[in-house]
Amino acid sequence: MQLLARNAKNAQSLGKKIMNVAQLVCKLNLQSRVESALAANGKSGLPARAAALPVHRSHALKRLGSYVARGEEPVAIRLQFAVEEEVLIDTFLHELAHCLDHLLNQPGKRYRSAHGRGWKHWAESFGIDPVRCGESATLKRLHAERLKVVAVCKRCGFELKRLKRLPRNRRYLHPKCGGRLVPVREC
Ligand SMILES: [Zn+2]
Ligand SMILES: [Zn+2]
Repeated sequence: MQLLARNAKNAQSLGKKIMNVAQLVCKLNLQSRVESALAANGKSGLPARAAALPVHRSHALKRLGSYVARGEEPVAIRLQFAVEEEVLIDTFLHELAHCLDHLLNQPGKRYRSAHGRGWKHWAESFGIDPVRCGESATLKRLHAERLKVVAVCKRCGFELKRLKRLPRNRRYLHPKCGGRLVPVREC
């Protein structure tokens, strides 16, 4: 607990704008949850490199978060913050489990078997479901709202909605009525 608080304070006093893992642990009130998971594994606190790992905001609409490593070096955790708080917490702990799996189970090595036994162990220690991907209703809605009409059926008027335009050099049929889907032109 003390180590976390000190790391968070240091980063603030240095005037860093980027949030780090230790700060987000405090912000989300996860100190005791993280500390007890570490204690259960014989650790007195987060490894310094995990505590100082930057947390970047992601704007991905399909991905809740990711752990980024370059070779043997942890680089950052990326999180989509526009989600329900419990989803944010689960995702953060999911990515932190990757970081600890990397630093403690595979030290000095390129990070491998991302959802293997070592990761599962940390995920379970944090009390989160050791599943690959989480889901968020908020993110689904955001994703849906960004859909645009990309084509209209010539026969029945059905509007095909997608995130991205259809590739141009192909013809598409509306499966329901067999009519031709005419791409909507971008202006
Ligand atoms: Zn993962
Ligand atoms: Zn149709």
